Amino acid sequence: MYSSDHVVMFLIFVAYAMMGACLGSFSGAISYRIAHQKSWIVDHKSNSARSQPARSSCPSCLHQLSLWDLVPILSWVFLKGRCRYCKAPISVRYPIIEICGVIAMALFCLSGGGGIPLILFVLALPFSLAGFLLFIEKKKIPFYIYGALFLSISVFLYAVVAENQIRWLI
Ligand SMILES: [Zn+2]
Repeated sequence: MYSSDHVVMFLIFVAYAMMGACLGSFSGAISYRIAHQKSWIVDHKSNSARSQPARSSCPSCLHQLSLWDLVPILSWVFLKGRCRYCKAPISVRYPIIEICGVIAMALFCLSGGGGIPLILFVLALPFSLAGFLLFIEKKKIPFYIYGALFLSISVFLYAVVAENQIRWLI
């Protein structure tokens, strides 16, 4: 018999995993923008003096992506790794980094980390994953990413060691 505590713990675990998928998705977007020297916040249109908020678009056809194209992992699977509009292949880097986000947040959940460590981890994780992607693809990591890597690893170790609440969902 599962008690309501198990159900609550399972739901918390699912919430962490979903947050990890979204953070992974954000990592994929920022690493692309860092690699292509684009702003994370605004897009500067060459034919206009005004900037507009940066939205994700297909690098091949430049079609702006809808919410349905941006569901972590699932969009890539349902679109069979191709752009909905021009059928250009979408790199497997996106679902892979989203799965890495899920794994990182799932491990953080199992380590029992919450509160301030959780907030720090959520802030640092996307930049750490982006650093990982940039290292794999470009063989270099921008210097400010090292701060995020250091923060996420130390907060993770803090959650595992200092809080000492490793719980496994069995
Ligand atoms: Zn396209």
